[in-house]
Amino acid sequence: MSTVDVAAVQQQVGQYSETIVGFLRELCAIPSMDSQIGPVGERVQEEMRALGFDETWFDAMGNIVGRIGDGPRILLYDSHIDTVGIGNPDEWDWDPFIGKIEKGRFYARGACDEKGSTPPMIYGLKIAKDLGLLDGWTAYYFGNMEEWCDGIAPHAFVEHEGIRPDFVVIGEPTKMQVYRGHKGRVEIEVTSRGRSAHAASNHLGDNAIYKVLPLIEGVSKLEPQLGDDPFLGHGKITVSDMKVSTPSSTPCPTRRVCLSTAASPLARRPWAPSNRCGRSRRRRCCATAKSRSK
Ligand SMILES: [Zn+2]
Repeated sequence: MSTVDVAAVQQQVGQYSETIVGFLRELCAIPSMDSQIGPVGERVQEEMRALGFDETWFDAMGNIVGRIGDGPRILLYDSHIDTVGIGNPDEWDWDPFIGKIEKGRFYARGACDEKGSTPPMIYGLKIAKDLGLLDGWTAYYFGNMEEWCDGIAPHAFVEHEGIRPDFVVIGEPTKMQVYRGHKGRVEIEVTSRGRSAHAASNHLGDNAIYKVLPLIEGVSKLEPQLGDDPFLGHGKITVSDMKVSTPSSTPCPTRRVCLSTAASPLARRPWAPSNRCGRSRRRRCCATAKSRSK
């Protein structure tokens, strides 16, 4: 890579700073919850085209990709452009899609996690190209969905788009620090099945909720066993979602799903079937594990 003229980079960034902030406000004004990133992806695509990216397209999953440069080494900038929901709109004192600026900080749904990384990535790549810093590199911007499908989009980028980056920068918020590691992550979905019966005759039924109570309690006490890592810190685990399926609110529930997520610095997780997917008539367990970056 060429020698970096920091002053020239700062001059360029300063030139575009108001545009970058305005672009971020536009992105946050476009709702993209529940993995619905089409409209915000189109806005990102429009900006990349205007900035002279060599190629932009939506991948088969619906994520937006932009390429700039065509060198032999591959650099990927990854930013998820979906967000979590806004909860109860009545509980907001201000519009989360319009946002607000306080003490020089912009607040809006997704401003931090993680639309905030998209404008500087795209403008940074344009500036890098203009200053000759991308000579020898092919750089990609990848705006994707993550909140409900963590890790699936970058997997699709590699396996379906067939692009294998040499280096990846992920735009998750880290208080402007460069993080070099990730604990890894595993999701486990457990389904318990019961037998429906009227609540007044519950002795005839088999309550699926009761079956997972020991599991939930066990998860709540598991964290101390996950251990610590001197670099990555504490291992964490929690029950993060539950769904009950029942014919009505009167009978015993027949099906309950409990989804737990864990991030552990340790390779060995006491109860995680990390590379196994078992299925039986009464119980189903699935687990996925991934590591974002080393
Ligand atoms: Zn995020």
